[in-house]
Amino acid sequence: MNISILVFGGHKFIATLPAQIRYATAFSVQVVANVIQAVSQIKTTPPDVLIVQASLDGSMELCSWLKDQAKLSWIYCILLEDRSQQIIERSKYGWEWELEMTSNVLKQGADAYIWQLNEENTDHTFAESTPNHDLILAQLAVGLRKAKKYRDLIRSNDLLSAIALADSLTELNNRRALEWDLPRQIQKSREHLSPLSLIILDVDYFKKVNDTYGHLVGDRLLQLLCTRLRQNLRYQDTPFRYGGEEFVILLANTTGEEALIVARRLNRIVSEQPFAINSQHMINVTISLGTASLDADDDDRGMSLIHRADQCLLQAKANGRNQVIGGNYLPHGSHLKAASS
Ligand code: GH3
Ligand code: MG
Ligand code: MG
Repeated sequence: MNISILVFGGHKFIATLPAQIRYATAFSVQVVANVIQAVSQIKTTPPDVLIVQASLDGSMELCSWLKDQAKLSWIYCILLEDRSQQIIERSKYGWEWELEMTSNVLKQGADAYIWQLNEENTDHTFAESTPNHDLILAQLAVGLRKAKKYRDLIRSNDLLSAIALADSLTELNNRRALEWDLPRQIQKSREHLSPLSLIILDVDYFKKVNDTYGHLVGDRLLQLLCTRLRQNLRYQDTPFRYGGEEFVILLANTTGEEALIVARRLNRIVSEQPFAINSQHMINVTISLGTASLDADDDDRGMSLIHRADQCLLQAKANGRNQVIGGNYLPHGSHLKAASS
């Protein structure tokens, strides 16, 4: 893991930091003294820990901004207090005043608040403990521990999402993934005024394969079929296992006519060559396909779009299987008169 620290501070301030930070080799340390640059740096390369010089313009705003960012608020923000006025008041009013200051700063967004005392701005009582390096290093360790936990969590979260959205037999996206992706594709298509189509396909007489050769051969056939389909799709086409031996392919940026071309190609590449299960079994299968394209009247989740494609698939089955029926560029309700191949 690449540990990184961003210091928002001026040159003099940097010189007061513990040598372990200034001369770090185990992690990277970036320094910026301008709040706009700091925000841009945090957005592009989020650090694990942010160390902020309190006396620099925009320091509190930076801490507050960070904690308002849903995706960045895990960054551990250490505010080092070096404002002379605060330091004078602290020595004048004592620990009650210090507690009040601390709670204010934490409320505003800092995760830790440390008094950065040095020869210039403190009396001799505090000079003993100056600079407060042990505390800074301890807070840094807390921040790095939190960042590591966060990154581990993200990693396992990504893994769980991948498991939840993938079909274990075919390694295609599953139906849950389609239910997540389709509304987003519809929204994108409407925003960009770009066409969106989909294909539903189902293996013909697949039950016979299972009955004749057994389920394991059926499983293997489904895997080989998916590999062949995937190899014959374009980069913008996303296949999903919709259920059993039924698949949906989302065709982004694709008109009804183009969807028909894709569907016919898939129909051909499945039927023209048998599937080599093993040295003994070469199995011929065919597929039936229905296509549909997004209409202005379609709902945002894509239910009516899928329904239209499904009606075409049923029609393809009823017409004798091993064919494509397209309900694509025709108006709503006229899908059963659609083009067939
Ligand atoms: P049709 O042409 O009308 O689609 O006929 P079909 O036999 O393909 O249709 P049906 O829906 O009657 O049968 C589908 C079969 O697919 C039934 C089920 O046992 C089988 N099936 C579904 N999922 C799997 C799977 O993961 N592995 C195997 N081996 N078979 C599966
Ligand atoms: Mg079938
Ligand atoms: Mg089926």
